[in-house]
Amino acid sequence: MDFRDSPEEAAFRDQARAWLTANATPRDPAQVEPGVFEHWPSAEQMQAARAWQRRKFDAGWAGVFWPPEYGGRGGTIMQQIIWNQEERRVVTPPAVLLMGQGHVGYTLLSHGTPEQKQRWLPPTLRGEYAWCQLFSEPGAGSDFAALACAATREGDAWRIRGEKIWISDGAYADFGFLVTRTDPDGPKHKGLTCFVVDMRAPGVSVLDVRHPNGGSHFSHVRFEDLRVADADRVGAVNDGWRVALTTLMYERFFVGAWGSSGAFGGPQLRHLLELAAKCERNGRSALQDGAVRQRLAAFAVRAKALTHMSYRVLTTVSQGGIPGPEGSIVKMEFARMSQEMANFGLELMGPEAMLAGTDAPWDGVFQAALLENPCMRIAGGTDEIQRTIIGERLLGLPQEQPPPKGLPFRDMPRGGGWRSPLGDDAPRRSGAF
Ligand SMILES: Cc1cc2nc3c(=O)[nH]c(=O)nc-3n(C[C@H](O)[C@H](O)[C@H](O)COP(=O)(O)OP(=O)(O)OC[C@H]3O[C@@H](n4cnc5c(N)ncnc54)[C@H](O)[C@@H]3O)c2cc1C
Repeated sequence: MDFRDSPEEAAFRDQARAWLTANATPRDPAQVEPGVFEHWPSAEQMQAARAWQRRKFDAGWAGVFWPPEYGGRGGTIMQQIIWNQEERRVVTPPAVLLMGQGHVGYTLLSHGTPEQKQRWLPPTLRGEYAWCQLFSEPGAGSDFAALACAATREGDAWRIRGEKIWISDGAYADFGFLVTRTDPDGPKHKGLTCFVVDMRAPGVSVLDVRHPNGGSHFSHVRFEDLRVADADRVGAVNDGWRVALTTLMYERFFVGAWGSSGAFGGPQLRHLLELAAKCERNGRSALQDGAVRQRLAAFAVRAKALTHMSYRVLTTVSQGGIPGPEGSIVKMEFARMSQEMANFGLELMGPEAMLAGTDAPWDGVFQAALLENPCMRIAGGTDEIQRTIIGERLLGLPQEQPPPKGLPFRDMPRGGGWRSPLGDDAPRRSGAF
């Protein structure tokens, strides 16, 4: 593992830092970031996010890793990560445009036609298009290849019928990156096809899904005879599994690399220390209590281990390799640790833990985290799925029992007999087909 920048990386970092220092305010590193699952961004927040993106674009800092013909800087993936680390040091509008510039953008770069890239990528980089990722369905989450949202060919267009759930940013996305089933008679991984869809087209309805904390972050999206031109298909017909894997690979990679910016545990740990200094245990400051000190030390060790595991992901990339299952360890451990930190904060507070919002210590960040953090153990692959990846790919354990080879999707049991909110009353076996 090598923690140092190469001379070229250090020069790039200096350049990025200089621009950010001149164009933004430094961020207080102790500040806990606002919960990602609070509320949809306001019109002002959207506008601020688009303006910040445009400013970066005009200065040549948007899409560090994207090719110049699509408005990018033509840099390396390592430079993109350095930029991400440096951008975290300054105050920026909420990251509501991340999906398009992140994994969806990279997927289009890898699998889009030159015409599609020209049409969607430069406006995305300029902050004009917000995106969402339309993969999960009721009955197809962990086993996302079991999805049933149907696309049927009609001349030079497709008719889409089905639904997607847990769609982050769905309420304000301009476009969605959609995976559909185009061949129910083939094996489940072989009959998928990807499209870009206009989220405001007739035939698309976007419903709010509420969180336990009253916030909104995702949507339930229904497609009722949405027509999509064949020109908006991404990748070959029935090759959608390969295309979608690119999206998932980038998603996991960026989560794995994210911890290198100190995002994991750092601010929460500072708050826990301050809280412990103010709370009492057995008639003295909780910071003097051996059991509290041990818990805090254990969190500090875990947070450091996570940061270093992220560095391992980065080192692999910086040396031209493809990151392995380390990203699964980072993601799973970060989610568990965040949840445990929130629980411990409330434990320390005692009766004050029952307060909420601005009445609570630190405006209720621990209370909010308690309700939000379980989401992190599900999003981007649940703990159990990450454990399977670690077991099979890191520990070399035998593979999970795969479904019988060649079994047509149509004949596969799926989703535990889930019933469709679109109306058909029978338990679904193969969705809209
Ligand atoms: C915050 C958040 C944001 C999200 N954003 C998006 C988004 O933008 N777009 C999108 O398409 N989706 C999104 N999702 C959906 C997410 O990808 C799914 O929730 C996730 O993949 C799990 O699928 P599921 O909810 O259907 O649970 P299921 O797959 O039904 O799992 C239920 C339980 O069974 C366990 N389980 C399932 N299979 C196995 C197995 N093989 N071995 C062991 N245990 C198993 C799971 O671990 C889990 O505990 C988001 C989810 C969250 C929480």
